[in-house]
Amino acid sequence: MSVAVWSRFRSTALSITFDDNSPGQFNTALPLLDKRGLKATFFVVPEWMKPDQWDRARFAASNGHEIGSHTLSHLVLARETADKQDEQMRLSRRIIDSLVPSQRCLTLAYPYGVHDSVTRAVARRYYLAAREAATWDNPSAPPDRFAISGRGPSRDMEVGVVDSWIASATGKGAWMVEVFHGIEDEGSDPISAAWFERHLDHLMAQGSRIWIAPFATVAEYAAERQAARITPGAATDSTLAFTVKDGLPDSLYGQPLSLSCPAPRGWRNARAKQGNLHKWCEFEPGPEGGLIRFEAVPDRGAVVISRRK
Ligand SMILES: [Zn+2]
Repeated sequence: MSVAVWSRFRSTALSITFDDNSPGQFNTALPLLDKRGLKATFFVVPEWMKPDQWDRARFAASNGHEIGSHTLSHLVLARETADKQDEQMRLSRRIIDSLVPSQRCLTLAYPYGVHDSVTRAVARRYYLAAREAATWDNPSAPPDRFAISGRGPSRDMEVGVVDSWIASATGKGAWMVEVFHGIEDEGSDPISAAWFERHLDHLMAQGSRIWIAPFATVAEYAAERQAARITPGAATDSTLAFTVKDGLPDSLYGQPLSLSCPAPRGWRNARAKQGNLHKWCEFEPGPEGGLIRFEAVPDRGAVVISRRK
């Protein structure tokens, strides 16, 4: 029995994130993402958001994108008192939760990427992960989910440079976090729509090698994987059962984990159910019976794998 490093056994995770709600992010980048079915994270600064941007943020969230916090007013947190930092992180979350009610505001990007131990301690009160600005690759078991690295293109950077970062990180089990600012606008380090579209097409061409998911989704998966305890249940000739627990608050951590187990001899196919719900399940034939890969959400009861003809 084993837990996949990333969802559905993809070897690398990648999150596309945007900071500062510059106008092109919702106007230009969002439609390009939606055209390809890619889900991203928009770290917004509530004090900088215009009414029409809240409309677009709600639309994006209803379509599976994440609206995260970039704090209330984009101060250098580590230069502020603990109380002021608390206010910046708490109020931004509260405003996003009230104005984007179809989701929960779960993650944070530190303004300018700056944080210290006080900042991180405050962030832990309100969020489940936070992004800094540093290198790029995070290990599959990040040592601190409140210091996740992200990286983005600088002005006039060739799109091929970012492709080369992806090539060197792919297959290492890493979690890559991309950081974008201006898209066809005056935001910092702006890139053109053509640049962004070319980059998204490069990502799409990686196929199933990379798991592309919002920042919170990947953070939740990593936390659940690191905490997962799997207990086998009673098996019959035609069924296997497992219970997956992670001990994390179920209201915040509900991503399905991807698991695998050896198939009993003679099995040729399988399906998985958790409660009444059919779960993703793949059967890989092998000389000793093969391998069953399936998904289960921790703490939601036993998952039962059934033999299929
Ligand atoms: Zn910023």
